[in-house]
Amino acid sequence: MAGVGFDGEALVKLLLHCCCGPCATVVADYFRRLGDEVVGWFFNPNVHPEEERVRREEVLAEGARRMELPLLPAGRGMGLDKFLLALARRGGSRCEACYELRLVETAKEAGARGFGGFSSTLLISPYQDVAAIADIGRRAAERFGLEFRSADLRESYRESCERAREMGLYRQNYCGCRFSELERAERRALRAISKLGARAASAPRRNGAGRQRHR
Ligand code: SF4
Repeated sequence: MAGVGFDGEALVKLLLHCCCGPCATVVADYFRRLGDEVVGWFFNPNVHPEEERVRREEVLAEGARRMELPLLPAGRGMGLDKFLLALARRGGSRCEACYELRLVETAKEAGARGFGGFSSTLLISPYQDVAAIADIGRRAAERFGLEFRSADLRESYRESCERAREMGLYRQNYCGCRFSELERAERRALRAISKLGARAASAPRRNGAGRQRHR
């Protein structure tokens, strides 16, 4: 398939690891503009709960259909237990273990299917460590004799949100794993507590005035 805005030969047959539909919009087009022949792949065993994982996979399928992005069948065979095991084995940063799990599997899939390189939609997220993703991606690429197509696309994150809105695609408000889901709940609880605190701070003056009138 011809890349968006590109008339020549594809530079690389590229397997694009897709974390979700919204991020895939801009990242796929970025590599297509460079002349790569891009094929998407959903592989995210970290996403919790299962309904959310299925929803993200379906939203990616809908977005890909609309932007004529071919997709490989989603990666299976690795559940949450494998994700947790990978975290425990690797130690260190939880997110780095998570990147490694997804990128190594993407490299394996790309190598087995004759792709020349791979990349990830994670590169557009301001919530991710793009330098760590690039480093882990390059090491995975070396293992499988591929190229890791890397770019810092975080400045285009807002554009991907806009594209998702225009296309009516669901956009999640937590990264994916159980930990990030709990962190979101914690942020919400702290916001609610601070609102209650602000309300309580303005309330005593009215109560005080009321008591005085009854003296
Ligand atoms: S916060 Fe996101 S990148 Fe980090 S471990 Fe959880 S799902 Fe993976």
